[in-house]
Amino acid sequence: MKTTENNKCRKCNGIGKPSKGYVNFHNIRTMYKEDEFETKLLNCLKCEKCGNSWIPETDTNKINKRLEYLRQELEAERISYGELAELQSLADHIDKNDVQLLEAAGVPENLNNKND
Ligand SMILES: [Zn+2]
Repeated sequence: MKTTENNKCRKCNGIGKPSKGYVNFHNIRTMYKEDEFETKLLNCLKCEKCGNSWIPETDTNKINKRLEYLRQELEAERISYGELAELQSLADHIDKNDVQLLEAAGVPENLNNKND
């Protein structure tokens, strides 16, 4: 696999291989009797060397458009679980100053499973 910016590990510059990772999402809606944490299997890249995993950047414009759409849904208070999960999966792409989206995304510390 050729090395591109998209599959280069940010930690060690190793090469990320396509993988699937379990990500724990914190359910922010508690009105439903659902588990507090939801685990989803996402496509990701996993570093061969250090095991760091991340969601590859695809089309940044597309992601930004998607984030704006999700923001609208959030503001209209009609965002669905699926969309929230999507927002969480895009947390890396949210601007650091965008508190609104970051809070909604729950900002997982990283994509590796770590128990609180
Ligand atoms: Zn690495």
